[in-house]
Amino acid sequence: MIACPCPVCQSLDKKDKRLRSSILVESASTRIVVDTTPDFRYQMLRAKVDRLDAVLFTHPHKDHIAGLDDIRAFNFFTGKPMPVFANEMTQEVVIREFPYAFTDFRYPGVPEIELNTLSTDPFMIGDIPVVPVQVWHLKMPVLGFRFGSFTYITDANRIDESEKNKIRGSRYLVLNALRREKHISHFNLDEATSLAQELGVHSAFFTHISHQLGKHAEVQADLPAGIFLAYDGLEILVDG
Ligand SMILES: [Zn+2]
Ligand SMILES: [Zn+2]
Repeated sequence: MIACPCPVCQSLDKKDKRLRSSILVESASTRIVVDTTPDFRYQMLRAKVDRLDAVLFTHPHKDHIAGLDDIRAFNFFTGKPMPVFANEMTQEVVIREFPYAFTDFRYPGVPEIELNTLSTDPFMIGDIPVVPVQVWHLKMPVLGFRFGSFTYITDANRIDESEKNKIRGSRYLVLNALRREKHISHFNLDEATSLAQELGVHSAFFTHISHQLGKHAEVQADLPAGIFLAYDGLEILVDG
């Protein structure tokens, strides 16, 4: 956190240096980013992402959409608009926050965005199957996504039973765990741990971690088997 003197923000451990939450999902032929955070540009540079086929949005909060402008670099190299998949609520905010990308006569060089509407129906992006999972962020419906045996859920504090069934059978689950204390719109560490265990996944990785959670190494040491804190740059190899 900017200007924070706490031991986590001052830590020299790389795993305590967290940018905002996002993932890259990659198959042999397709690459998708879930959410374009305010750190999107640096995240793409850091991971040396030289091609991107689509962006998926979970919800319209600023820490998940603010970096969208920087997809212009991918437009530049492909000469094509970027397919962006979002539900109607998120599309409204994207159009409001980036109005210059949606006017009839656009300044040259603005991001070129092709909006696609997400429902809760499964669909394909290239060869990657996508199953939207609707979760709750206090009162806001947020979309998580299942890709084969891997599921990504961020910014949730509650999941309906019917949606839990869409996650069950996943081998890997990424789930938000903000801190130890209870929070109004995010799972805390205990809630995320119980949910991962309830869903019976082989491995769970926690994301959207606040500096209030504590140092990576100390928190990780107390977690049960199969439960891990995610960290920037973590790669998970998933078959199927
Ligand atoms: Zn701090
Ligand atoms: Zn968030």
